[in-house]
Formats: sequence, structure tokens, C-alpha cells
Amino acid sequence: MAYSYEAPVSQSLFDRASVVTPGGVNSPVRAFRAVGGTPRFMVSGTGPYLTDADGREYVDLVCSWGPMILGHSHPEVIAAVQDAVSRGTSFGTPGEGEVALAEEIVARIEPVEQVRLVSSGTEATMSAIRLARGFTGRAKVVKFAGCYHGHVDALLAAAGSGLATFGLPDTPGVTGATAGDTVVLPYNDLEAVRAAFAAHPGEIACVITEASPGNMGVVPPAEGFNAGLKELCAADGALYISDEVMTGFRTSKSGWYGIDGVRPDLMTFGKVMGGGFPAAAFGGRADVMAHLAPAGPVYQAGTLSGNPVATAAGLAQLRLLDDAAYAKIDAVSAELRSLVGDAFTKEGVAHTVSSASNMFSVFFTDRPVRNYDDAKKQEAFRFTAFFHSMLEQGVYLPPSAFESWFVSTAHDERAIERIAAALPAAARAASEATA
Ligand code: PLP
Repeated sequence: MAYSYEAPVSQSLFDRASVVTPGGVNSPVRAFRAVGGTPRFMVSGTGPYLTDADGREYVDLVCSWGPMILGHSHPEVIAAVQDAVSRGTSFGTPGEGEVALAEEIVARIEPVEQVRLVSSGTEATMSAIRLARGFTGRAKVVKFAGCYHGHVDALLAAAGSGLATFGLPDTPGVTGATAGDTVVLPYNDLEAVRAAFAAHPGEIACVITEASPGNMGVVPPAEGFNAGLKELCAADGALYISDEVMTGFRTSKSGWYGIDGVRPDLMTFGKVMGGGFPAAAFGGRADVMAHLAPAGPVYQAGTLSGNPVATAAGLAQLRLLDDAAYAKIDAVSAELRSLVGDAFTKEGVAHTVSSASNMFSVFFTDRPVRNYDDAKKQEAFRFTAFFHSMLEQGVYLPPSAFESWFVSTAHDERAIERIAAALPAAARAASEATA
């Protein structure tokens, strides 16, 4: 497919990158393979806007895949980072910033009695399942098809995100021994979970789930699903792990827990809590966390864990996320959802705008989407046409039909008007697209 607009500087950077980096990118979905065309190399971001290497400005609906909830270059976050940097970038010792960030997390999310800081969401989920296995003395992990928990070997089976984008069922490099302890079940299907516990009594260390999935597109949990998981885990002595790397500090002040109130044994966080820097965390019940080294026998560590610059950025961002900030993000999301839905309806495009709090995505189907199989049945080719029309008109969407869209407090009326102006032509392009 040829595109009527060009990005020569991005293209030449991509050519250079492709020589020295596999596929030209450091994270697969960035390569635009699902939608084709030239990945945009961004050079700066301010508020809701990104500017690429060719000097074009875009309204950003990716927000770095979630972290930039206050928009780009928020002055107070930048000031906190500059202040931290001026005192040094890493000490490899404890520091006050990491205590303050841990206190902020514990204060916001009641089930988190203790928390350990790490550098990525992948590390958080990897460490949480190791801890669950160490605590319970059991091996098996239950996960759901379409849920992505980072590129942890044991959790890559039927994962969403990039694996959904590229239609990969699993990945080479994960051994049968590692994957053999992973039980993959359909999302939103409590009967399947019940059956798994019946088939493996006393063997399941934990059930890990995205608190509200956003990696197969946005597919919220059915009423009672998370509560049912918690109940089944408790009955069998397994741990219930809620992965809030995406939803944490985004869907409410206390993440998805603040919405459904189901109390996990362990939780994982990332994205928003790092303020655009590599900071993530896992935490939960104090008696479980007490099994972590050096308090207990389960080993977990990190050279840059609790990095002073990352914790300063995260703390500054979290402190700005008050009730008014969430009200603003929710309102922006509601307005956009309605504009997007209206544009497709006007063009007669079968679609579902699926949302969970302020996270949302579009499925090109009018049938209900409750799990990964439903999500994969959408007419994803329509997204490609829609995506490129939006890009050409200066709106940067996730380059995949299986990713959540993200908004920020910086998305003001001007940004929304630019999106609204782009939607009619993009919806028309989606309606005219052919498989
Ligand atoms: N868990 C969830 C729910 C995610 O969405 C992601 C990343 O998108 C991760 C874990 C992994 O986080 P990271 O990319 O920081 O390793």
C-alpha cells in the first residue's frame, strides 16, 4: 500500500536504524509493520503534541503507551527531574526519593502494604510470579489469552500487545519447560478458571490478569469476573495477581482497584508511576512481600531499581494526579469516544468503541468483544486505512488495532478540535478499505 505523504527524515533514520537494530526499533509495535509505512521518529513533545524529525506536529493519542498522563514536558515533572539530575543520576544505595514514591503508592492503593521498585513492567510481573511461586511452593501460573504482562518467558503464551499485532501465537526461545507451567485460559470465562483449579488442585501458584485488559484492544472484565478470580484463588490457596501496569494511576487515583474494589494479593505497576522514566513496582500483602530478599528467601534485585531521577519524575507526576486531573482525563476520553463513534456511524462502518474508565479503543465489528478470540474477529484492515488517514492529518494513534488509545490532562479543546476535524475523512477511508 502506498501513502500519499512522505516522511523523508524519519525514513532515513529508519534506514540507519535497520542496519544496527533488528527491525529498526527497540520495541516491535513501533516499527509500523501492522499498518505499513514509515515509523515516525519523534524529536520532541509538548502537552498533547509530538513533533517528528520532518518537523510535522501530531496530536498524540499514544502518550508513550500510557505514561504521559499529564502530557509531554509537564513543567513540574521536568523541574523535578532537573533538580534530581543536578544531584547525580544513580548511587546504587537507598535514597529518600524511593521511600517517598513507595509511600505514595502505599497511601493510594490500600491492598499494597509493601512495595518493591523495579525498572519495567516486565520486571514487575516476572518478580511477582516468582514471589507467588516462592510463597506458595507451587509451580503453575494461570494467565488469560490476550492479556500481556510484558515479555516474561512464562507469560508470553497467547499474549496480546505486539503478539496480537503480529498474529504470533507464542515465541521461539521459550522452552517447553518454562511454558509448561503456564495455563492459558479464555478471558472473562470463570467456568474455565474453575475447571483449571479442579484439574490442578493445590498446584496453581497464582492467577495473573490485567486488572482491565488493554493489550487486545480494551476489553473490560465482565461484572464479577475479577471478584470471581479472587474467590477461586482464595479457595485453593493460590494468589490473585492484578497487573495494573497499564491501568494503575490511570483509570483512577488508585487505578482499577479504585473502580472494582477487588483486593488482590499482589499487584504490579509501571507506566504512569515512572513519569516517562523506567520505574515500575510490585507490591501487596505484607506477609507475602516478607518473602522477598533480604527479608526472606525469594531473590530479586536491580542495579537501577529506585533510580533517583526516575523516582523524582514518578513522584512529581503522581502528586499532580488529583481528583481534578482524573475528572479532566475522563471528560476528554468521553468526548473523544463520542466523536469517534459518531464519525464511524455516519460512514456506516461497523464498530464498537470499547472503554474501561478513560482507556478506550475501537473494534471494527459490531459484535460484542469479551475476549481475545472476539477481538481477533474484527476487520483489522479497516484500522490500517483509518490509522494512515489520521496520521496524514496530524493525529498519532497506536499503530495497531489491538492497543488502547491514551489521553492526558493536556488534551485541550484545540487538540480535540484537530482530532474532530480529522475523523470524517479517516472514517470514510475505513469504510472504503478492502481486505
Ligand atoms: N503489563 C501490562 C498490563 C502492560 O501493558 C505492559 C506493557 O505494555 C507490561 C506489563 C510490561 O511493561 P514494560 O513494557 O514496562 O516491560
